[in-house]
Amino acid sequence: MVIGGGLAGMTAALRIAGRVPVVIVTKAALGEGSTQWAQGGIAAAVGPGDSVEAHVRDTLDAGAGMGDAGTARAVCGDAPGLIAELERLGVRFDRAGDALALAREGAHSLPRVVHAGGDETGRHVAAALARAVHAHAGIRVVEHAAVRDLVTVDTGVDGVRLEDGKAIAARAVILATGGSGHLFARTTNPAGATADGPALARRAGAALADLEMVQFHPTALAVGPSPLALVSEAVRGAGGMLYDRAGEPVMAGVHPMGDLGPRDVVARAVFRRARETGADVVMSLAHLDPERVHARFPGVAALCAAHGIDLARDPVPVTPAAHYAMGGVLTDLDGRTTVPGLWAVGECGCTGLHGANRLASNGLLEAAALGRRAADAVAGGDRTPAPGPRADPVPLAVGDADGATVRAAVGRIMWDDCGLERDACGLESAALELEALPRPADAGTAGLREVAQLVVRAAMAREESRGAHHRSDFPDPDPAGPTRTCWAGDLPFPVPTTTPVPTARPSIDLTEVA
Ligand SMILES: Cc1cc2nc3c(=O)[nH]c(=O)nc-3n(C[C@H](O)[C@H](O)[C@H](O)COP(=O)(O)OP(=O)(O)OC[C@H]3O[C@@H](n4cnc5c(N)ncnc54)[C@H](O)[C@@H]3O)c2cc1C
Repeated sequence: MVIGGGLAGMTAALRIAGRVPVVIVTKAALGEGSTQWAQGGIAAAVGPGDSVEAHVRDTLDAGAGMGDAGTARAVCGDAPGLIAELERLGVRFDRAGDALALAREGAHSLPRVVHAGGDETGRHVAAALARAVHAHAGIRVVEHAAVRDLVTVDTGVDGVRLEDGKAIAARAVILATGGSGHLFARTTNPAGATADGPALARRAGAALADLEMVQFHPTALAVGPSPLALVSEAVRGAGGMLYDRAGEPVMAGVHPMGDLGPRDVVARAVFRRARETGADVVMSLAHLDPERVHARFPGVAALCAAHGIDLARDPVPVTPAAHYAMGGVLTDLDGRTTVPGLWAVGECGCTGLHGANRLASNGLLEAAALGRRAADAVAGGDRTPAPGPRADPVPLAVGDADGATVRAAVGRIMWDDCGLERDACGLESAALELEALPRPADAGTAGLREVAQLVVRAAMAREESRGAHHRSDFPDPDPAGPTRTCWAGDLPFPVPTTTPVPTARPSIDLTEVA
């Protein structure tokens, strides 16, 4: 059984189909999820002069020393074959003549990002795979059905229970539930990104890892409620500049690369300035030729126009927003969790590929790579767990509080005290506030609250600043070097690694990122 209808889940289902019976359960329609929203593309070393080793190096550099080298070699090595497989499944990637058209994105040393429909890669990938899944006689599709809990027995996981109480038995359950952006009040993630995978896995006793590592995009459009639209880094690449309400440039003196500094540095600067001035930072392109701005960024211009903002002339209010979860359910390279019969792939899993910061366009890559790897193991009848600790299962604890009210409170607490800038005082206050929240009536919100508590605990335990995790009371990386922590129940353990963790160069050179 595959839970989730994004790239990771659909890749897994298609690869299993025909070998063993497979059912895919998803809480929205098939194809809905972050996958559909992805703009930039999929990283793969397929261009002239590129190599898997160069892709691995860029991935580990972006990960600020925490990325797992063995995982990076395997996943980056899978990438060229995956692109070919996605094409066979019906994805039409953009081409320059006979060759794949490649974009260069921030922190990639070469043009390496394969895309479709210009900046609509996710929509094209999701639609093609959804068509292939629906057309496959070997896959049973259950849409608009949320998984409420995993069914656990002594020997591991052997099925799921849906929101309506129905139980479905399965020899293997693959979690592909996507991200957890809605832990935070401001996020670019679609509504379903509510950390369901880590919540379900944890209650089944599986270990979770690197939960404190959350990537914040520096410039989401600060209009209306989440999900917030992206104002891509390419807009700053073309000359867009960030100002505060007094007209002072935000990035002056903050980083030598100014507005094109590393994603986490720009995000923190924008966050700080908004907090100091009490008003959102704005991006201005008023010094550029308006016709060229509209021609170059029709998508962003349309998003702005929907809110009465002219991208080329008006100040565009922007805010950082939670964008990607590097942490999640601890898995090995094939998506095995530490509980027999339970697998996790895509954004809900944590292979260690991204370390403390994800390299642009490695998210879709990991989703497809792990979906395929897990499928091959599952179809072979495997139920072996990954090395690492397993805790006793804990029951789902729901109450009678209104879910929407609790979700809003979780988002506010996490944004204020466990977001871009963290310290012990704020984290302690977040822990107390989360604990004091009433228990929500629905399983999804109960899980979101539980995972928020785990993120706060992990952020407290990491007394250093590294990659996306910034502690103002511990502003430097730990001189002892990077460590990774997983949690099984309430106990922390070092992440079992099979490969040495290399020293990384911390700088991230952002030029053009979706
Ligand atoms: C705006 C935006 C732009 C991005 N751009 C890029 C990019 O250019 N390149 C890149 O590599 N990455 C990008 N990313 C990240 C990337 O899109 C995601 O990491 C990736 O799509 C995750 O795929 P997934 O299959 O793991 O999850 P998703 O695609 O999010 O799918 C999760 C699925 O699980 C289902 N689900 C969740 N909980 C349950 C439950 N309890 N029961 C049943 N079903 C459930 C959901 O309905 C959904 O179908 C972007 C993300 C966003 C938000």
